[in-house]
Amino acid sequence: MQVNRQTCQRCKSINVRNILRREPNRPTVVYVRCANCLELVAYYELSNYYHHGKGIESYLRAHGMHANDSGRRWLADFKRIQDNAVAGYEEVLEQLTEQNKNV
Ligand SMILES: [Zn+2]
Repeated sequence: MQVNRQTCQRCKSINVRNILRREPNRPTVVYVRCANCLELVAYYELSNYYHHGKGIESYLRAHGMHANDSGRRWLADFKRIQDNAVAGYEEVLEQLTEQNKNV
């Protein structure tokens, strides 16, 4: 496993902000902006966005679903993503700690 912190290529800062763009029927897009020099650091489209602590309603909305469309599959997906997010987060933090980069 390789773990990196996102770094601005212009000024080498790791202090970044995520700007999320949501539009109907389009994947959520993230623009990563350097908080130091304001340069664009990265752009990516999300196919499986999960925002920890916001619950399943937010998850369904982010995937273009509405609560009344939901079923067991969506609930199972949400729980799987939530578990993966929490477990994966702990793993990458452990890795960063080993690299003395957990800041
Ligand atoms: Zn920068």
